[in-house]
Amino acid sequence: MKQLRHRIRSVGLLLCALFLLLGAYGAYSLTNYGSRWFSTSANSWLRGAKQDVIPGDVYDVNGVLLAGSAVTETEDGWTATRRYHDSADVRRAVVHVLGDAAGRVSNGVETFMAQALYGFDQGMAERMNDYLSGARRKGDSLTLTIDSGLCAYILNKVEALSASGAPPRGAVVVMNWKTGAVLAEMSFPTFDPLAGGGEGEPYFNRAVQGRYAPGSTFKTVTAAAVLSDPALSGRSYTCTGALSAQDQEGTVREIHDAGSVSAQGTLVSHGQIDLRRAFLVSCNNTFASAALQLTDAKLRRQAMAFGFEENFLFRDIVVENSSYPDTDRTEWAVAMTGIGQSGLLATPMHLCLIAAAVANDGVMMEPALVRQAIASDGRLRRELVPQAARRAIADADVAALLKEYMADVVNAEGGTGHQAAVAGARVCGKTGSAEVDGQENTNALFIGFIDDPDTPVALSVVLEDMGSGGSCAAPLAHDIFEYILQNGREML
Ligand SMILES: [Zn+2]
Repeated sequence: MKQLRHRIRSVGLLLCALFLLLGAYGAYSLTNYGSRWFSTSANSWLRGAKQDVIPGDVYDVNGVLLAGSAVTETEDGWTATRRYHDSADVRRAVVHVLGDAAGRVSNGVETFMAQALYGFDQGMAERMNDYLSGARRKGDSLTLTIDSGLCAYILNKVEALSASGAPPRGAVVVMNWKTGAVLAEMSFPTFDPLAGGGEGEPYFNRAVQGRYAPGSTFKTVTAAAVLSDPALSGRSYTCTGALSAQDQEGTVREIHDAGSVSAQGTLVSHGQIDLRRAFLVSCNNTFASAALQLTDAKLRRQAMAFGFEENFLFRDIVVENSSYPDTDRTEWAVAMTGIGQSGLLATPMHLCLIAAAVANDGVMMEPALVRQAIASDGRLRRELVPQAARRAIADADVAALLKEYMADVVNAEGGTGHQAAVAGARVCGKTGSAEVDGQENTNALFIGFIDDPDTPVALSVVLEDMGSGGSCAAPLAHDIFEYILQNGREML
């Protein structure tokens, strides 16, 4: 009997402990990721509650009003209508990051930040005060880290790239690599929130939802794995222009260097080559054989250190996860992974984070969108506090070497990214040209940064079906870097 009572008490205590743990977890996740729950369409209560509040204004980093409200008196009270910027270019340039009142873009500021914009961050006393004074309640105003001038500039540059007349598809992300503050998060094609519509899935936010093969930009990850492995780091390679590896059916297939087959049909090769030079000329042969020497397990571990396979949970931005393939790991598939193909997928936001982390000595900052949240009575509710998302993508000495490798790509003789170079600045980067089934041309990619703590800018460019990263994406990166260097540093 005594034993039974003792057992019941133990079980009771255990249940109590579990209950407390559950409560603590609930409180924790609601505090940290409340906006994720709050902005879901399942929250129908929100729709009703929204009608009693004037939504807060949204400004860009320079104080340009991106979204405000017009209040009109009606017979039974009043209604607030959302108003956007006068310039159609600015509206189209920021619509994916801002979202729209109709909710066509998922997880834009208008929906994801509804908790702040509709005043649900306000305390009971604040609400009572408004209620008693008869004042209309207004939500918090947000100042974003976005620079609408930069966004409009990028919009014009990208839309001018359209050769066939069809709107270009792709994404551009620009951020401060020291703080994680996002200066531009753009998806193409875009649309005007006042009109809507258009071809090519304009509501889809490719910058954070689009998952792309990273192509040769992934050689940054493969290089990090090699440089971290004492048995492999000093090795030299022999490029024959084509590497043979077995696929699932046991068939031997070849991996070629880009442009390795000359017009005359002969193979052009890099011959004896070290990793650094292979990185600057983007030799597929070297990186495919490096992946095989590393083994799939080591390459996967390095990719995970860079954030692949991670469930991204950022405070301000919802970002799709990037994946490292886990099936079909034949010799050929592993070799292809080493050059950024074979089921590897990453969002343009994540690619920008990778470049930013190399710039920031291996520390990946969490991307942030909100610089300040101000309550309707003028009090500062919240301010950007830079936070690391990952402490180390690689050891500091490896990160430092990667930076040198990326500087070579843009600045050394024969580097594939030389069109991204800007006079007077140390631009670092990596190009990529990813093959996609059913597409005539490759996707053009570029990731890079300015290696200067006074201009800590990192970016990623993805242009679908446009050709090579060196000839299509790198020149756009050049334009963006130059714009930022010329237009002051207020945005940073
Ligand atoms: Zn080669």
